[in-house]
Amino acid sequence: MSWIWPSFVDRELPLTREQRRAIDRDAWKMWFRNRWNFILYMLVPISYVLALPLLRDAAGMLAGTLGADGLGQRMVRAGVVILLPAACFVLAGAVLQRWRFAPCVYEATRRHGCDVCTRCGYWLRGLDDDAQRCPECGARREPMPVLPLEGDG
Ligand SMILES: [Zn+2]
Repeated sequence: MSWIWPSFVDRELPLTREQRRAIDRDAWKMWFRNRWNFILYMLVPISYVLALPLLRDAAGMLAGTLGADGLGQRMVRAGVVILLPAACFVLAGAVLQRWRFAPCVYEATRRHGCDVCTRCGYWLRGLDDDAQRCPECGARREPMPVLPLEGDG
């Protein structure tokens, strides 16, 4: 399942299991703090409900075109109405997660003292302090946050 819900915390980072859990919790807190994240996620099921009549029509047309009857027709309908949206859910979820959730994890990781890139999560160890960019993705290197997340501790 890790390809659906990968951990965005680098396995190599010198963190205890408890710290990793705390990072996950902090990342979720940050994620929920921005209501756009929630709205974007809700758009996925909402667009499914709105598209359902269209999907039914498309399924009926497809079944007709294929000349499927009985069981075949039901399978075509099930495929279009259930499997196709399910694939879209997984895809949209993965995109949103990478785009909206991963940066929260990177930020939380930094608040726990590990200098990782804010864009791609690359561990910026051993870099000169005057290195200004992430060697992995070229994002500007941000100064480490000094304050722990509110409500922490
Ligand atoms: Zn990077």
